[in-house]
Amino acid sequence: MVNRRIVEVLRNGQPDELLTVQGWVRTKRELKGFTFIEVNDGSSLTSLQVVLNQDLPDYDKTIKKLNTGAAVEVSGVLVASVGKGQRIELKAEMVKVHGEADPETYPLQKKRHSFEFLRSIGHLRARTNSFGAVFRVRNAVAVAIHQFFQERGFLWVHTPIITASDCEGAGELFSVTSLDLKNIPRTPTQSVDYSKDFFGKPTYLTVSGQLEAEVMAMAFSNVYTFGPTFRAENSNTSRHLAEFWMIEPEMAFCDLEGDVDLAEAFLKHIFKYVMETCSEDMEFFNQRIDNSVLATADNIINQQFERITYTQAIAFLEKADVKFEYPVSWGLDLHSEHERYLCEQLFQKPVVVTHYPTKIKAFYMRLDDDEKTVAAMDILAPKIGEIIGGSQREERLDVLERRILDQGMKPEDLWWYLDLRRYGTVPHAGFGLGFERLVQFITGMGNIRDVIPFPRTPENAEF
Ligand code: ATP
Ligand code: MN
Repeated sequence: MVNRRIVEVLRNGQPDELLTVQGWVRTKRELKGFTFIEVNDGSSLTSLQVVLNQDLPDYDKTIKKLNTGAAVEVSGVLVASVGKGQRIELKAEMVKVHGEADPETYPLQKKRHSFEFLRSIGHLRARTNSFGAVFRVRNAVAVAIHQFFQERGFLWVHTPIITASDCEGAGELFSVTSLDLKNIPRTPTQSVDYSKDFFGKPTYLTVSGQLEAEVMAMAFSNVYTFGPTFRAENSNTSRHLAEFWMIEPEMAFCDLEGDVDLAEAFLKHIFKYVMETCSEDMEFFNQRIDNSVLATADNIINQQFERITYTQAIAFLEKADVKFEYPVSWGLDLHSEHERYLCEQLFQKPVVVTHYPTKIKAFYMRLDDDEKTVAAMDILAPKIGEIIGGSQREERLDVLERRILDQGMKPEDLWWYLDLRRYGTVPHAGFGLGFERLVQFITGMGNIRDVIPFPRTPENAEF
């Protein structure tokens, strides 16, 4: 008999079809003369209802083993369902129990579990409705990202995970070393002798692939990275992970406006794709997690994003009749409460803020003519705050050298990055987007630990 995915059976299965499904039992209901089980194989939120009649061989023995969590293979015939809630169900003719799950100890029984509890059983939580929906949407978002860039002729480039440069200069680096920590080689002045280390110099897990993406953009015009990124964030927030995935497009022959245009088209494409391919999961999030999920998707897809400068944003915030916890004045960075005011209260849609003060942004952002601001852009989203951060890059060698020195960095350390400005330099721009923040934004999940299968946060690397 043909093996079928449950999503496909629920969608297209017709009465009298003979088939086999494989999955895990979600629930069992024993009635007089027959038993219902719900079988889920992860392909859809809805499980397939299976009916076992008492005239099945070994009926009593089999149903004892069919507890929540058991792995089963069921062959039978599809029949129109008389019960409410499903169009069709599978009448079992042969049931094979691959692995039982003891109801006394299996932690996922049929009731609502808190996300905190589910985090403590990270190896089993993917078998719940919520995590099933999250990881299907996560997959769809990844597909949509590649589709968006591939359709536009962008090259997917793989930037290194181990690097010697701290792109953001934020100091949240994990060191990579093969030195014996019990016997660290020292220089005559007692600092660590990195010449004895694996790479002969200090190296780290990457915090961003941007600088390397710029290298590739200077040959392939339009490129993007999509890979893991690491930050030793020592804060426990609902928006920060120590290991997360980042998407970083980089475009040659592109200015800030082109960068914002691409970012807006990108977000619209992702939301559209997810709504088309994961509508059942999205309904679930709207009902059970956050009742604004569908309205948000509609808003992103159909509204033009608001575009304002940082200077205008400060003026709006100064006029606001709300009391902010953090001060607002030209030159200070925006805090999450300010970002949320702009997109949730003032404009009620995503807001793109451009031209931030030079002092609060990274060295590689292109200096504006007045030198007070740089060609940076952040896209702020309701509930999340910053979802995308990008800029036009500084393509002028002399200005870039000056900016590196101003930030107390050494131009020699970035000699290859500066070479890009020596040979065939061109205006270029790009942005970075945290993959998990995006999945959070789409699904309405409150905690970033719940949108990645194996979250890495301070003191947590169990699974
Ligand atoms: P934040 O102020 O929220 O810490 P950031 O300014 O450090 O963000 P960037 O350096 O601009 O962020 O990184 C690009 C994108 O990566 C951010 O817009 C965000 O979506 C995501 N991001 C940054 N840090 C993390 C993290 N620790 N966990 C998950 N996503 C992150
Ligand atoms: Mn940060």
